[in-house]
Amino acid sequence: MKATLKLAGLEPLIVTPESNFVNVGERTNVTGSRAFLRMIKEGRYEDALAVARDQVEGGAQVIDINMDEGMIDGVEAMTTFLNLIASEPDIARVPIMIDSSKWEILEAGLQCIQGKGIVNSISLKGGEEEFIRQAQTIRRYGAAVIVMAFDEQGQADNYERRVEICQRSYDILVHKVKFPKEDIIFDLNIFPVATGMEEHRNNAVDFFRATRWVRQNLPGAHVSGGVSNVSFSFRGNDRVREAMHSAFLYHAIREGMDMGIVNPTMLEVYDDIPKDLLEHVEDVLLNRRDDATERLLEFAEQLKGSAGKTQEKDTAWRNDPVEKRLEHALVKGIIEFIDTDIEECRQKYAHPLSIIEGPLMDGMNVVGDLFGAGKMFLPQVVKSARVMKKAVAYLLPYIEEEKLKNPTSAENTKGKGKILLATVKGDVHDIGKNIVSVVLACNNYEIIDLGVMVSCDKILETARQEQVDVIGLSGLITPSLDEMVFVAKEMQRLGFTIPLLIGGATTSRVHTAVKIEPHYSQPVVHVLDASRSVPVTGSLLGDKRDEFIADLRADYQKVRDHYAKKTSDRELLSIEEARANKFQIDWLQQPPVPARETGVHFLDDFPLLNLVPFIDWTPFFQTWELHGRYPQILTDEVVGAEATKLFKDAQNMLNTIIAERWLTAKAIFGIWPANAVGDDIEIYSDTSRKHCLGINRNLRQQSKKAEGQANFCISDFVAPKETGLTDYLGAFVVTCGLGVDEKAKEFESQLDDYNSILIKALADRLAEAFAEYLHQQVRTKYWAYAPQEALSNEELIQENYQGIRPAPGYPACPDHTEKPLIFELLNATEKTGVSLTESLAMWPAASVSGWYLAHPQAKYFGLGKIDKDQVEDMARRKNMSFEVMERWLSPNLSY
Ligand code: SAH
Repeated sequence: MKATLKLAGLEPLIVTPESNFVNVGERTNVTGSRAFLRMIKEGRYEDALAVARDQVEGGAQVIDINMDEGMIDGVEAMTTFLNLIASEPDIARVPIMIDSSKWEILEAGLQCIQGKGIVNSISLKGGEEEFIRQAQTIRRYGAAVIVMAFDEQGQADNYERRVEICQRSYDILVHKVKFPKEDIIFDLNIFPVATGMEEHRNNAVDFFRATRWVRQNLPGAHVSGGVSNVSFSFRGNDRVREAMHSAFLYHAIREGMDMGIVNPTMLEVYDDIPKDLLEHVEDVLLNRRDDATERLLEFAEQLKGSAGKTQEKDTAWRNDPVEKRLEHALVKGIIEFIDTDIEECRQKYAHPLSIIEGPLMDGMNVVGDLFGAGKMFLPQVVKSARVMKKAVAYLLPYIEEEKLKNPTSAENTKGKGKILLATVKGDVHDIGKNIVSVVLACNNYEIIDLGVMVSCDKILETARQEQVDVIGLSGLITPSLDEMVFVAKEMQRLGFTIPLLIGGATTSRVHTAVKIEPHYSQPVVHVLDASRSVPVTGSLLGDKRDEFIADLRADYQKVRDHYAKKTSDRELLSIEEARANKFQIDWLQQPPVPARETGVHFLDDFPLLNLVPFIDWTPFFQTWELHGRYPQILTDEVVGAEATKLFKDAQNMLNTIIAERWLTAKAIFGIWPANAVGDDIEIYSDTSRKHCLGINRNLRQQSKKAEGQANFCISDFVAPKETGLTDYLGAFVVTCGLGVDEKAKEFESQLDDYNSILIKALADRLAEAFAEYLHQQVRTKYWAYAPQEALSNEELIQENYQGIRPAPGYPACPDHTEKPLIFELLNATEKTGVSLTESLAMWPAASVSGWYLAHPQAKYFGLGKIDKDQVEDMARRKNMSFEVMERWLSPNLSY
């Protein structure tokens, strides 16, 4: 007799071998649904219940509930929601699938549900012991379980690994835990196909084969999976996706898949899939031909061009009047027809200028409105700008010609205002500023962009000469904050009367209000991101200017009052007291691990391909103001489609960067014997520890801590000299920025800001990936204090590794003036070509430097505010003047 999986909400759901596929509703998932996330965040549980109800009414036989999001308390959200569901019989009638990657959320969920639900999921990822413990608990609660095909080595991505992991998991569950066989459901990992990657070609086939194997060899066990993943590379083409999902399910169900997370609206009836489409789709799924992917891609394109209601529109716009076509091209960022259309306009309009002022500006206004309404996103706007630039470039010779004929006609083309933008002296970062420049230009502002490392003199001189209406300053590193204060003071001294905009990663509303605005009597505004630059500039130069400024001043006054109160409430210890409360490590219990290879190592022209798996993509999307975590962001309801397009562009460029060697990666790093001496770390040439190569001076937290909490300093993680133990310290400099500038300029000369920004953003990603990669090499091979480590990229991003790599300028060690020591110890500038600017920014921008500390208790922290006594002490230790030291540390001063 075959055992059956019996699930229950208020009503039972029996899954027999004869039952059809069980479909699990997926919308009550904060990682998969932006709308649902918002409801939970805002506490709108009534709305969230409606989502659950809709699914059940729509035919979901189980509902999956996931509350895994950094910004919400998962345990509380899960508990609240499940308790609410319990009193809604029309929802509670179906079984619940509690979905989380956090055990405490799973367990909290188990305590709430009635009937018999499913836990999604556990795996061997964290080792056997944890797996057994969790399975035992789930068994005690009487739930079924989804087991991911994942183990200590990572996720199963081929047939053999799936078989191996499922067999092992099953044996443990059945024999050691005595878990009922029929309550085990394997999630065999559905991966995308037709990605263009050779190793993905067999993804679906492996899944089908593994499904059959599980059903034949692991009696009672079920097979599940998230189906929409398979069609990932066809985002934006729902016809193909729907066909793929149905065909995938058709084959998977035949092999024995009996449960799955599916979006019912994204399914086509298998028999209704047109035969030619089906053939192409199945060629891919079943890996039937070498050229299956190309053929499907081609076919998908045709589908867009010809058949299908929605697709017809795609070329229909070409029949519109030329003005409409221009608008369409601008909104959609299509360059293809721009020359033809502009030429047509030129025949039609008397003056080339009137094309810019007429249809092109109208089109850009539509873009501006859509962007303002949150219906378009930054990457699209930057692409629109590219179309606009090309159009203007086409017209330019004709405008010049006309000017010669009639000198007065072209002079009165004033946009909404003239804006000067610059990254301040000593700073090299300009992605954000470039995006702002594009966005403002799109909104009919004339932009003068002075680039990076621009001195105050040059900024103010240009502003005068060009009679600009607004100055915008940008900067990323903390010393730039001070430079901005300086510019504001100079503007005051020289009697400027125009507004000042402040933007960039370390700038803030508080800093602007407290440190900059008081020095300049004209409006000073912090601009949080590029999207804000448009309304802010509009308000500053528009009719309601006075009202806006009055509000702004009132707001900043409030910020200052609040800041002053916080400052006076703040309790700081003296530096002596703080030192007395240092973080204590028992050095005999956990002694330092000797480094396997000390000294300096150099990696010249490192293969970029090896870095790709280490890329953390989430910050890449942030750069483009697309918010959400990768990879979920690609399927996000709001920004998913745009994120996917951007990601595709990024992948394409990344491939070219690697294939054509656009960028060069270099790294230098070293490990030396070292000891803590007070807050300093002495770095020695060898284990005799007689010759000191340099001293790393560190700052210590001074805020008064709660009972039992230490006042941290980086040196706390290095064995003090007086222990007699030899400890070690490492340092590194990596760069992927060599070559970026040339390429970015090349794109700019082709009026292509989109790709110019893209390459900079990718170089930054590669540099961070290099830092991640190198750190791993150090942990496992060079220092080798964690030789067995096997962390996935996700775990690396979450900093699950032992030890830290604090970077000067970041929260634990905000003092940039320690960077030169790293560079000297490694002779980094000569070897890698990375240099330090006067503000100690690294040039090229796509570079990272820092220290390596190995101790298991070492962790990242934030220094917070420090007092004058420590600044004086540090100035003495470093042999710097107090005033200079104070300037470098100004963002951390409490006084
Ligand atoms: N994965 C991210 C890492 C960003 S943090 C990315 O790809 O962008 C960048 C670096 O800052 C880290 O690698 C680490 O070297 C350093 N860092 C992080 N937190 C820190 C802290 N609190 N103090 C000092 N350095 C820190």
